[in-house]
Order: sequence, then C-alpha cells, then structure tokens
Amino acid sequence: MSVTETRINLLDLDEVRLREFFQSIGEKPFRAEQILKWIYHQGVTDFELMTNLSKELRQRLERVAVVEPPKVLSEQVSLDGTTKWLIGFGGGNAVETVFIPETSRGTLCISSQVGCALNCTFCATGAQGFNRNLTTAEIIGQVWLAARALGHERNGIRRITNVVLMGMGEPLLNFDAVVPALSLLRHDLGFGFAAKRVTLSTAGLVPGIDRLRETIDVALAVSLHAPEDALRETLVPLNRKYPIRELMRSCADYVSDKHKRTVTFEYTLIDGVNDHPEHARQLVKLLRRLPSKLNLIPFNPFPGTRYRCSTAERIREFQEIVMAGGLIATVRKTRGDDIDAACGQLAGKVLDRTRRSQMLRQHMQRN
Ligand code: SAH
Repeated sequence: MSVTETRINLLDLDEVRLREFFQSIGEKPFRAEQILKWIYHQGVTDFELMTNLSKELRQRLERVAVVEPPKVLSEQVSLDGTTKWLIGFGGGNAVETVFIPETSRGTLCISSQVGCALNCTFCATGAQGFNRNLTTAEIIGQVWLAARALGHERNGIRRITNVVLMGMGEPLLNFDAVVPALSLLRHDLGFGFAAKRVTLSTAGLVPGIDRLRETIDVALAVSLHAPEDALRETLVPLNRKYPIRELMRSCADYVSDKHKRTVTFEYTLIDGVNDHPEHARQLVKLLRRLPSKLNLIPFNPFPGTRYRCSTAERIREFQEIVMAGGLIATVRKTRGDDIDAACGQLAGKVLDRTRRSQMLRQHMQRN
C-alpha cells in the first residue's frame, strides 16, 4: 500500500478548489497561484523545490498533500513522429495518450476513461469494454507527462498547441472529473490554452453537451458517422437514447453561445456502410444551416472488426459532394498507424491487451 493514499493529490484540484484547499488548511488562498505555477509552468512536483514557499509550509504540504502524476509505462514513436504513451494508474488500469506533430501545430490526444461503455460498433476501445472513470489528476496528468516528455515549452515555443479529448472513453460520462481538467488546460496558471485549442469530443450525450455549454468554454466535436437515425443506431448505440434531431438541437444551442461558433462533426467513412453518395447528400441537408466543420475520418481497422475502410475514390467523391453542398470538409490524415495510434485503435488489440497486461505485471514487479 502506498503512503500517499491519505494525502490529497493536488493534480485533482483546479484553481478554485486549490484556493479552497489552502483556505481549509489555514493558509492564504493566493498560495494556489504559486503552486499552480510550479506544477504547470515549471513542471515541478516536489514541494522541497518550491523555494518561494516557506520551509514550514513546504513541510506542512509534505504531510497533507502530494503532486503525483500517473506513470509512463511505455513510449512508442512512429515513423511520422507521432508518439504514443501507455500511461498506468495502478491496479492494472492504463490508457493511451497520443501526440501528433504537424508543421504548424502539435496535437495531444488524451483519454478520459479506462475503456468505454458506449460500445460504438466500429471502435476498438468500445470492443474492449468499460473499466472505470479517470480522476482529474489522471486526465491532466497525461498532459503534464506529455509536456515533460516533449520538452513542451522552450524559448517561448510550445510543442503542444492543441489538446483534444478524443482518446479512450466518453468524456461527458465523466463530467465531474473532466471539467476541472478542462479548467486547468484553459487557466493561465495552468497550461493556458485558448478555448478553440481545447476540444472535447463526444458520441452525442445530449444532456452532457447542454451542461458543458453552461459550464466552460471549449471547442466541441461530435461523432456523427451517419446522417439518419436507423443507420446511426447501428454504429453509435447511444443514438437510441439521443436521436439525431435532439443532438442537432443541442449542437445548435452550443454554437449559438457567442464564444462557441462552430462545432466539428466527425464522420468515420466505412466501406459500404455510410459512404454512399446519398449519405453525403443527406449530410448536407442535415448540417448546412449549422455553423460547422466536417471531419471525414477513413475507418481504421483493428483485429476482429467486420468493417473496412472506404476506397480512396469513395472518400474523394464523398468529400466533393459535401463541399459542393456548402459544407467545410477535411479528410483526416491517418497518423501513427504503424504504432496503432490512429483514431479508434487505442489500446484495442487483443494481442495488445496481452502485451499490456504483461507490461503491467513487469512494471508492478519492478516497483
Ligand atoms: N467518445 C468520444 C471520444 C473518443 S472517439 C467520441 O465518441 O467522440 C474519437 C473519435 O474517433 C470519434 O469520432 C470516433 O468515432 C472515432 N473512431 C473510433 N473508432 C474509429 C475507427 N476504428 N476508425 C476511425 N475513427 C474511429
């Protein structure tokens, strides 16, 4: 058993809660600012090194708190520079975090749950089942670890320019832990990302989208994958609960808020399933009045799946139709597929699972 268990992990607290924490131990709330800068600007987790705090306060913090990020279990770098980390939380739980470098930006894709309960039929994470929600510390800890591994901020240049909650899990089903993590991503004393550079991706949890709109300002991505209910139900079972009509209402409300001008719709193109020209035309009708962007994702196969990726020609044709209809549509380049880091491939392989549990066992023996 670890001795840290009774101490509070400060990575779990956003700025507001950190102030409350200092107040609760009889300290001035502005201590929160000093600690946040140490953790998120300097990458320091050891209280001993936080030299602008009095020795007495440092010793006190030592007794009641920790700054404990999760552990990197492995790191893989793809030929295209995409980096994937397996990040462990103890007890056999691990998720994957992916960094995708491009010429003018670097996107970090983080996870919000171990596994996923939504069971989308084309997603490897869904096939794996659901284990548990991540805590705020485990979510923001992925960014902290990636920032450190990448040498994030050097000479004023940031390597991570965007963070997307598009890894494993449905972030809106873990709302209470996700929101403080979003707040730390946004806050100047945290990572300081602009609202448009932090994107939450959801399979379409309508009450969650509505609540998010009222809670914090971030960019929204919605996994649509079909222009009509019957087809969408076969791909995203959640559609039975929240059909397209309600989803569109919720998205329209989200973008009508003055800071949140567009919503990105993700559409995974699956051969012979949702890639027909008629689907593209239906999509135009559905989305043309909404300020939105369409992100077409070629399906990434994984072992055991019954689906295949659409042909290059079909993808081009689909994009042409939606663009001719007035939508803004891009085709997502597949990145890091040599290390299984592409969309929908995270920690999904049966083989990978065996490797992962072996790795975890070895890791536990070492520690
Ligand atoms: N639960 C959230 C975030 C995780 S999925 C959501 O559903 O949005 C991130 C994106 O990858 C989603 O758009 C998802 O539909 C897509 N995706 C999942 N499996 C995929 C696969 N095998 N190929 C391509 N994209 C996939």
